[in-house]
Amino acid sequence: MSRKVKFVEPAKLYLMIKEELDAAYSEVMSKGELIDRGQLRSFEENLAAFVGTKYAVGLNSGYDALHMSLRAAGIGSGDEVIVPAHTFVATASAVINVGAKPVLVDVGKDFNVDCDKIEGAITSRTKAIIPVHLSGYMADMVRVMEIADKYRLVVVEDACQSLGTSMESETTGRQQATDSKPQAPNTRNTRRMAGSWGLTGCWSFYPFKMLGGYGDGGAITTNDPDVALFATRMRYNGEDRHSGEYHGHGFTCLLDNLQAAFLDVKLRYLPQWIERRKAIADRYRTALSDLPELLLPHYDDPRRDHVYQNYTVRSKQGNDFSEYLKAKGIEVLTQFRKPYYRHEALKLENRGFPETEALSREVCSLPMNVEIADDDIDYVISAVRSFKQ
Ligand SMILES: *Cc1c(COP(=O)(O)O)cnc(C)c1O
Repeated sequence: MSRKVKFVEPAKLYLMIKEELDAAYSEVMSKGELIDRGQLRSFEENLAAFVGTKYAVGLNSGYDALHMSLRAAGIGSGDEVIVPAHTFVATASAVINVGAKPVLVDVGKDFNVDCDKIEGAITSRTKAIIPVHLSGYMADMVRVMEIADKYRLVVVEDACQSLGTSMESETTGRQQATDSKPQAPNTRNTRRMAGSWGLTGCWSFYPFKMLGGYGDGGAITTNDPDVALFATRMRYNGEDRHSGEYHGHGFTCLLDNLQAAFLDVKLRYLPQWIERRKAIADRYRTALSDLPELLLPHYDDPRRDHVYQNYTVRSKQGNDFSEYLKAKGIEVLTQFRKPYYRHEALKLENRGFPETEALSREVCSLPMNVEIADDDIDYVISAVRSFKQ
């Protein structure tokens, strides 16, 4: 069988919106607007509006967003920060690189931090928690915020994989702010986007994220003016761009104007792309849910929706299953077969994380992208069904 199904096809997606991307490119190039110009401002405004926060600050990567958030919150040496055992390594690296200690907590069946295990990891040094919204599905932010309030922890949301997902908040959800003055209760509605609950939401526009640029990119969203100002200065070596004054030793991590122009085009498509992802997920679910040995990423919490950055299934025959699909010409992702805390050089404490260990052996993400053809999905489905579990 010579058929090939790619995990993502960036060139195909480009052709779908070529005219608008080319126009954005021409505009930037012909005017020579490269650094900190109108396209960046426009994208930041549209991103903030989409997430439902007052501010968005464009940065160079999702890592920078995490790093900047921890700096803004004053997290540093001697502090502990709770992070999930199952996430991309950058979540923990940001903590290490501000001089603090990541304290790992196991995840639950939905791949997100197990809220029942958070309190057991809190010590007198714990200053913050970074819930990660993995694969397009939010951590239970109602519980996370309750725990954070109780122990006065800063919450930094690693929302790099979950732009556009939301959760019903039973309480009058208020976002955190550094001055800890109570914010006006959110009375518009009780459904709140990922990235609008904590002090900051951290975003990545790495090419293969749901909103992907054509190179690295990232942002924070926040309602806190001091955090927004801090990030705006520190991304540009600490400089206030109006006065020229340096307000601290900063970094070089400004989102490129050209990338912002591309991202602004793509953000307009995001709502319809999310619908497409949900439709593909439904197709997988309908066709595969009778397979008893295969766990599908559908969870019955009516308060949360799933935007399927990834469609990650679990098979007890992890490697056999993923190798079988690869042999059928289907590109799959097996993140993360080796949990990050098992990489010796990172020198992280492995306190035993049974769910992370189990799922890391079993995960397999099936092709999930907006550019995929329906008959390719059907081909993936028939290949999955033909595997003898
Ligand atoms: C992609 C990702 C990051 C890092 O984003 P970069 O833009 O690659 O730095 C951090 N956390 C999670 C969960 C991610 O998926």
